[in-house]
Amino acid sequence: MRELRFEDVTVRYGTERRGLTAVDGVSLTVPAGAVVGLVGESGSGKSTLARAAVGLTPTTGGRILLDGEPVPHRGRRPVQLVFQDPYSSLDPRMTVGSSIAETMPPSLRRRADRRAEVARLLELVGLPAERADRYPEELSGGQRQRVALARALAGEPQVIIADELTSALDVSIQGAVLNLVRDLQRRLRLSILFISHDLAVVRYVSDHLAVMYLGRIVEHGPAADVLDDPQHPYTRELLAAVSSAQPPDSDVADAEPADPHHPPPGCRFHPRCPVGPLVRTEREICLDTEPDPTGRRHHAACHFAAAAPPLPDRGDSR
Ligand code: ADP
Ligand code: MG
Repeated sequence: MRELRFEDVTVRYGTERRGLTAVDGVSLTVPAGAVVGLVGESGSGKSTLARAAVGLTPTTGGRILLDGEPVPHRGRRPVQLVFQDPYSSLDPRMTVGSSIAETMPPSLRRRADRRAEVARLLELVGLPAERADRYPEELSGGQRQRVALARALAGEPQVIIADELTSALDVSIQGAVLNLVRDLQRRLRLSILFISHDLAVVRYVSDHLAVMYLGRIVEHGPAADVLDDPQHPYTRELLAAVSSAQPPDSDVADAEPADPHHPPPGCRFHPRCPVGPLVRTEREICLDTEPDPTGRRHHAACHFAAAAPPLPDRGDSR
């Protein structure tokens, strides 16, 4: 059980003049043994944050700490990343068993021990041990995703970052893989950062929720609090999209997503905000002042978070 902490992390791509800030001063903690869900639309910087945590993308500022120490990116890797597309982590020319064995600690030297460990890991992710001799292309998408998880677990990680783990899967298989994630987290007491653009998926597995918009965390807190009492208009929109048949009550929401090369001044969400200055002209503060996180039970970076009316009872809370 380990705690992963992002402290004021910034990641820029490109040059000073022609670049973009994909992650902009993000602070986020994955407490030991907890699942933190990170949700936000495509392009909000989720994968960049994930890659930064495992050293695949350099940070421009801030720190990423595992129990207070910088995350080691060499040798044994205590933080393992599992992607959406297992083809990117599974070599098509290697058997499933060899792929899994590759990340095992070198202390497991004997062939028989490694084979036994592969069998144990396959069973842990709900696959028969015989799958070890198969190749990735012989498996279904859901099975490949299970193998990718087994491969990550073989490295005996303390933290797993799952980036769009189920996004490429059929809805019918997503549930089983999500159940597996919850089950593994309980049995192995892992800390998990679970990333998806889909709030319906994230809310199913998360103890805590963080909502990302244009490189920033705009709302975070215990999952139940955020889901029952969302205070940022963006979170409310995401929730409305997954929990009701009615579309969000605004055309503003359909505006073009903001361009990360030119983030809007003030609150970055203001050009799309259904309760912001485009609709309520007296809310000028949103145009030029960045909101600090405030809120009732948890934090939301909105000048009018406290004024957000409670949600009507949705009846389907989770
Ligand atoms: P998400 O995972 O939330 O969809 P990403 O972290 O993939 O978001 O991307 C955030 C922003 O950074 C996007 O605008 C994307 O186009 C940009 N981006 C991602 N990777 C690179 C890269 N290697 N070089 C330049 N820009 C990138
Ligand atoms: Mg992504």
